[in-house]
Amino acid sequence: MNPIIIIGAGLAGWTTARELRKLDTTTPVMMITADSGDFYAKPSLSNAFAQKRGPDQLVTTPAAKMAATLNVNLLANTSVQTIDPIAQTVATPDGTYGYRHLVLATGAQPIRVPVSGDGAALVRSINSLDDFRVFHTNLLGTQTHSAVPDRPQKHVLIMGAGLIGCEFANDLALGGYAVSVVDPSPRPLAALLPQQAAEELQHALSALGVQWHFGATVQSVERVPPEMLHPPGYAASTEPNAHALRVTLSNGTVALADSVLSAIGLRADATLAQAAGLRCGRGILVDSQLRTSAPHIFALGDGAQYASAPGAPGQDAATPGSTLPYVMPIMNAARALAATLAGTPTELAFPLMPVAIKTPALPITISPPAPGLQGQWYGDEPGLWKFVDANNMQRGFTLTGTHTSRRMEQVKLTQA
Ligand code: FAD
Repeated sequence: MNPIIIIGAGLAGWTTARELRKLDTTTPVMMITADSGDFYAKPSLSNAFAQKRGPDQLVTTPAAKMAATLNVNLLANTSVQTIDPIAQTVATPDGTYGYRHLVLATGAQPIRVPVSGDGAALVRSINSLDDFRVFHTNLLGTQTHSAVPDRPQKHVLIMGAGLIGCEFANDLALGGYAVSVVDPSPRPLAALLPQQAAEELQHALSALGVQWHFGATVQSVERVPPEMLHPPGYAASTEPNAHALRVTLSNGTVALADSVLSAIGLRADATLAQAAGLRCGRGILVDSQLRTSAPHIFALGDGAQYASAPGAPGQDAATPGSTLPYVMPIMNAARALAATLAGTPTELAFPLMPVAIKTPALPITISPPAPGLQGQWYGDEPGLWKFVDANNMQRGFTLTGTHTSRRMEQVKLTQA
């Protein structure tokens, strides 16, 4: 009897396996994943520096223990190369496996923008524990030189003042790094927050020492030979990891940085699905039961585009729905999918899912309006903004500071 195969061991893959096992302890489950399969909470990647936690400390359950507890046959460090929806098989370098149901939990990939210069390959993104390990090792490698008395703080330049960029800016600043953020927008989280809330966040992060370069982009990143650097702490460097980068912005500003972190967004990874002929838009299209356009193939997580996501009616008729790259949608989707896989076809109805932004300098909870919805933000009282549509209905909210505790009160007042 062919197993249920899950591709991907992120939050979506493991949560589906866990929810399934609550309902069905016997159906064979195979999980194939390109990474180690160790379980970690990805949100912890952007608050680890302040807590002085390294990559190994972020693993909450090792892969082997997850697999044993959930009775899953785990093929770790194995990439699925192709899917054959007719034969109901997936191919890996180690063999081809038949499935009765296939779950695509392949996540998203960081968006990369072209940057010139011989240091461009050193620009990092963080969307996995492995990415974090590389970034952390490099930064701490150079950090050993902070023992040099006249050496300034290490400087991390972040590309992107969105959610992930702001979280890392806050975390790295609390972790003792000098941080600057470059973004073409006029303020942080410009696409998500009402202007006043964004300005509050900007001031709160500035108070931690974060420097902003708005209305600009990174044009080039070049390596700087240690002997050309000032102060002399760099020149004294003999560490193999030690590097310095000269970053040139579109507005002509030149900055030296020990590391450049790109946080300009993620794109759903629909590579496998597309190659197999599945319908895709901005992600792998799934209906309200998380079924893709191919029989017996389901998708969820950062790679999926949910038809049942809250959205403005008729916004994109050809490829309905939207991606929801957050934890709460995964939890809801995994529960519904597990029930379907266990034999009870289950409709997914998302509740309102506010997102907590991990910027302790100014905690923020936001329930953004559906993409494309017409309306406007207005400040009701300090720390609370409401998004109101043309019919005067509340369709979103933003809470800052101590007001984030009013999340449930605002959820009740908001129409999904
Ligand atoms: P992933 O975790 O990316 O997992 C994808 C899996 O697929 C991986 O195991 C990968 O190896 C595997 N894979 C891909 N292709 C193949 C292949 N061909 N063959 C085999 N395996 C493959 N959300 C919140 O709600 N709150 C937060 O505070 C928050 N903070 C965040 C902070 C950071 C820094 C980041 C990056 C994201 C944050 N998010 C947050 C988003 C949230 O973490 C993600 O929505 C969630 O972790 C995505 O899980 P996933 O399983 O869909 O994808």
